[in-house]
Amino acid sequence: MESNEHVQQDKNLLNFIEAKIEADLQSGRYGQKVYTRFPPEPNGYLHIGHAKSICLNFGIAQKYGGRTNIRFDDTNPVKEDVEYVDSIKEDVQWLGFHWAEEHYASDYFDQLYAWAVQLIKEGKAYVDETPQEVISKNRGVPTAPGVESEYRNRSVEENLTMFEKMKNGEFPDGYCVLRAKIDMSSPNMHMRDPIMYRILHAKHHRTGDKWCIYPMYDFAHGQSDSIEGITHSICTLEFEVHRPLYDWFCDNLHIHHPQQIEFARLNINYTVMSKRKLLQLVKEGYVSSWDDPRMPTICGLRRRGYTPESIRNFADTIGVAKRENVIDYSLLEFCVREDLNKKALRTMAVLDPVQLVIDNYPEEQTEMMDAVNNPENPETGVRKVPFGKYLWIERSDFMENPPKNFYRMSIGKEVRLKYAYIVRCDSVEKDAEGNISVIHCTYFPETRSGMPESNRKVKGTIHWVSENHCQQAEVRLFDRLFSVPDPDDVPEGHSFLEHLNPDSLKIVNACVESSFIDKSPLAKYQFERLGYFCIDKDSTPEKLVFNRTVALKDSWAKLAKQE
Ligand code: ATP
Ligand code: MG
Repeated sequence: MESNEHVQQDKNLLNFIEAKIEADLQSGRYGQKVYTRFPPEPNGYLHIGHAKSICLNFGIAQKYGGRTNIRFDDTNPVKEDVEYVDSIKEDVQWLGFHWAEEHYASDYFDQLYAWAVQLIKEGKAYVDETPQEVISKNRGVPTAPGVESEYRNRSVEENLTMFEKMKNGEFPDGYCVLRAKIDMSSPNMHMRDPIMYRILHAKHHRTGDKWCIYPMYDFAHGQSDSIEGITHSICTLEFEVHRPLYDWFCDNLHIHHPQQIEFARLNINYTVMSKRKLLQLVKEGYVSSWDDPRMPTICGLRRRGYTPESIRNFADTIGVAKRENVIDYSLLEFCVREDLNKKALRTMAVLDPVQLVIDNYPEEQTEMMDAVNNPENPETGVRKVPFGKYLWIERSDFMENPPKNFYRMSIGKEVRLKYAYIVRCDSVEKDAEGNISVIHCTYFPETRSGMPESNRKVKGTIHWVSENHCQQAEVRLFDRLFSVPDPDDVPEGHSFLEHLNPDSLKIVNACVESSFIDKSPLAKYQFERLGYFCIDKDSTPEKLVFNRTVALKDSWAKLAKQE
């Protein structure tokens, strides 16, 4: 697993963020306060990368007895929506976190405007009427100074009038911008008179038509942190180059100055994580919805059967890194397996059934077999599973010409039917196409558990369900959504969509035990020998629908070894 090499080995060691915070606590820089925030832009559903950020921000505050806010970074009215706000809140809560305060960057628009005016008055900001392309071009390249705008030195009065007019809607979109007057020859391009405000005649989901100018991320984020008294503003690495600007605005406005700290964003192989691409998958119908169980969204993982604990544990295990890296998808699967092993009730289900008839078993007899609900958690007790002459077993558990190390069913061999008897396979019947349609067996009454021969040794144990007592269920088997480790890696003119795995969803009709205790959506089970499954929200009392969360074993690891 070359990609997981950075995984923190010793959980007692401080990561670099904790080390910074402890240094600040020691120096008393922010008193004894640790105040973080999670600042999503409400332009899509949260994904597993956001989960990492949530666990980090809330986790750190918890560790140091601090607080965490949720703040919607809603400075771009065009792409944002309340639907997203609601889903984000639901997902954060589902992950098990509680924010101290709920805020919206848009609540600060008045204050931000006042601060912009203040900077103009101090000669630190100006309205630039240069066309956008020319502004970009004049910024130049890092190795040589940029070209100053002809509007850079206009008077404070003129700037104030122009900015007022911008606000009053007297100019069309894109006519001019407000820029900070910093340094056109800075080697950091973000310091070359960055844009603070742009004109956008668009309705905002909270402020409606009140504003037609909107602050840029850099002029909103640090100040929002400051207003809320945030001490440590944790963000992803791409904002490292923005930090001098974050600091510049706080310093020049003389306001509380939080410490921005950057960490490497989470990347996972075999999936994409940008909201834009996830939206495209939904909009163009490659998946059913944001909560399609194949999506790396939090709601997708939830519907897939992931638990909050498994995701928190995943976030914890990968730790925080200072350099970009790619985490193996199997690690996520490992974390959910580990958690469900403790929690999921066991049950038997046959996904690809073939009939098994026990020739010497009485036609009308039904026995109730004791089956353990969860060997990892004895408190869950045992249930009674009906057993009869006619059973379903997994087609793959029988082989006509078995290789040497095949310990399941073949003619003349004995296996144990789990929780029941040892049977010997005698013969098979085939249909017109030559497929096996019935397997005939003999059972040994003394081999039932508690009977004299219950300890008789056989090499294989297989699961089953009783034909007359089972129910049919639709089972959705998911595989990775993309068939290559890095779907984003495509040549010019090609799309990540070309790497979609055509076999990422397979639907089968399975026979399952009828003894389910809980049929409510998200109820989680281990289908013995097959994997972890949960009830899907499409399920009805008449027709159960299950999602496979994860198989018991990592089939991709085996594939990787073979290659
Ligand atoms: P995307 O590029 O997927 O749209 P984003 O960074 O634009 O993501 P935001 O809503 O702005 O999404 O992010 C909210 C918070 O979550 C930010 O602090 C951001 O740094 C963090 N975040 C987003 N993606 C990841 C990731 N893959 N790993 C860790 N943190 C992330
Ligand atoms: Mg963003």
